[in-house]
Amino acid sequence: MGALASWVVLAAVMGQSSAPYVRSRVSPGDETTQCLYWTQTRVNWQQSTVGNPKATNHTEFDAITRSFQSWQDIFASCGNLSLVEGSRVNSRTVGYNRSGDNINLILFRGRACRDVVDANDACFSQDTCANTYDCWDDSDGTIAITLTTYDERTGVVYDSDISFNAARFNFTTGNGGPCGIVATPDCVDTDVQNTATHEVGHFVGLDHTLATNSTMNPSAPPGETSKRTIDSGSRNFVCVAYPKGSASQPCFPVPGGNGNGNGNGDGDGSGDGDGCTAATGGLAVLPLLAAASLLARRRRGAR
Ligand SMILES: [Zn+2]
Repeated sequence: MGALASWVVLAAVMGQSSAPYVRSRVSPGDETTQCLYWTQTRVNWQQSTVGNPKATNHTEFDAITRSFQSWQDIFASCGNLSLVEGSRVNSRTVGYNRSGDNINLILFRGRACRDVVDANDACFSQDTCANTYDCWDDSDGTIAITLTTYDERTGVVYDSDISFNAARFNFTTGNGGPCGIVATPDCVDTDVQNTATHEVGHFVGLDHTLATNSTMNPSAPPGETSKRTIDSGSRNFVCVAYPKGSASQPCFPVPGGNGNGNGNGDGDGSGDGDGCTAATGGLAVLPLLAAASLLARRRRGAR
């Protein structure tokens, strides 16, 4: 009983809902703030040519393609945007750069920043280590991060990038059972497609839900592959937020319409996750970091 009570309190504090789906907000969990959504009809995304630097046969590329395809299948049946994979790119830079090539990038970081960057380097305080040194600069226990840049006024998304923590996690693509004490060649540790399908949910504007069996449930133990299959609640999100033949739906009317994002943001894309203190009209980096940390803690706890 005590455990249940504290769970409820924790859920309330964290703004976690058990609804079939929860849309991402300008200020995470704050339903008085606008929802996040893409307005363009075609969203290109690209994988880094490196793939998983820890992998030997590089089956991760296809696993990630399958994750996006699972979402695209839903968009094709009842949604209004196309997720299109472009050619692999050499870029190792996440975040939004107003003057740069704003690709929606999928990459694996193979080493922790603290292992390869001098502890006194200013990049730690400036939150620029990941891009500068091509390393993982978030918490050890975080499996992956989706970094989304959006207009704080309208909720319109400009850019979204997914980083995998290959410095710490053993990503697999097999279909065998969970890896035991003795790992078999096909065993499942941290499944790429399971992880990527969840992250693409963030990419298209979903936050976590505590609904059981949801792809967007933050709990995901090692060996899990069930999130490869998108649940009915998440499917419904696509049909409601991105209705076929109509404009993408905000959660309340956008003053002046949502098709004219001002684009005046600083666009540093540094990923400090401090997008809540809304300056009017600026672009902010979506603070999914806290949510991702929650996911990580539960996964770690499951081990
Ligand atoms: Zn997540």
